Amino acid sequence: MTRPTIAVIGAGQVGATTAHLALLKQLGDVVLVDVIDGLAEGKALDLLQAAAVEGVPIRVRGTTDYDAIAGAAIVVVTAGLARKPGMTRDDLLAANAGIVGPIADRIARVAPQAIVIVVTNPLDVMTQLVLKQTGFPRERVIGMAGVLDSGRLKAFIAEQANVSPADVSAMILGSHGDQMVPVVSSITIGGKPATQRIDAATLEKLCERARNGGAEIVALLKQSSAYYAPAASVIQMVDAIVRNRRAVLPACVRLEGEYGLRDVCIGVPVELGSPGVVRVVEQPLTDAERTALHRAAQQVQSTWNQLLTLQPKA
Ligand code: NAD
Repeated sequence: MTRPTIAVIGAGQVGATTAHLALLKQLGDVVLVDVIDGLAEGKALDLLQAAAVEGVPIRVRGTTDYDAIAGAAIVVVTAGLARKPGMTRDDLLAANAGIVGPIADRIARVAPQAIVIVVTNPLDVMTQLVLKQTGFPRERVIGMAGVLDSGRLKAFIAEQANVSPADVSAMILGSHGDQMVPVVSSITIGGKPATQRIDAATLEKLCERARNGGAEIVALLKQSSAYYAPAASVIQMVDAIVRNRRAVLPACVRLEGEYGLRDVCIGVPVELGSPGVVRVVEQPLTDAERTALHRAAQQVQSTWNQLLTLQPKA
């Protein structure tokens, strides 16, 4: 069986860590692309040698040439600026749209069959931009945020309840920003409602910490934003696609009427498998959670409209 090729655009913190995990998990051969001369090439060489040390038969290549992504099954877009302390993700809008828009055009030309996983922030609007610029069906343009945000919440709940994170089930939907929507009504610990172990006020504090999880790390690192958990989250999605796991994971996709929303990219549970998004899963929400999801969608739409004023062609 031939191995799929996973292309990673942007060989920075998230991109290189994603490439490393992809080879450790033997998900496919890896192509790293970055605009900085030597960066992707150098990291790829290092990764190739890591693969040899690990004894995994994975090919890794690094380049500045986008033609190298031809034939890639999955393209992960991590190119762009990351937050510095005090910045919101939306502060990256103009700069990252100027980077991601042309990348989407290249993907459409060079890897027209690829499934694209978008990572660059502001995530929901960048996903919408890639969808528009590539012209790909929504099944093949998927934003990564929900797995990460939910993972952060699971980590905090597990720590609070002194259980393994594997025993915690929790999902964060909505946008990747202030408007993320923890589905508190369905959080469970060991299959039982979380409120049996953690009081509602504490649970709300943990949700708030997850909501600010990225900023907490940026404030500590100062020079970069998080990358281990983001890369692990990308890899969970790549794994579901490459191994056709049909896993239900929260991810950013364009809605076409689900949850009462249309023509907006927002985080919802989706089933991921070899075609990309197999289906959007309509999870029961309380009225408050549904209202919060709609508010998040309005905010994404308003940031999108802001982008249109900056880039009339977007
Ligand atoms: P980084 O600065 O370490 O890496 C970004 C890389 O992109 C750099 O190496 C840069 O040279 C490269 N780049 C810029 N323009 C390019 C182009 N046109 N083609 C190819 N490469 C290009 O940043 P990072 O920490 O890896 O973060 C990358 C992005 O991911 C940021 O926008 C960050 O906010 C975002 N992010 C999103 C999530 C999420 O949950 N969705 C999580 C973490 C980070």
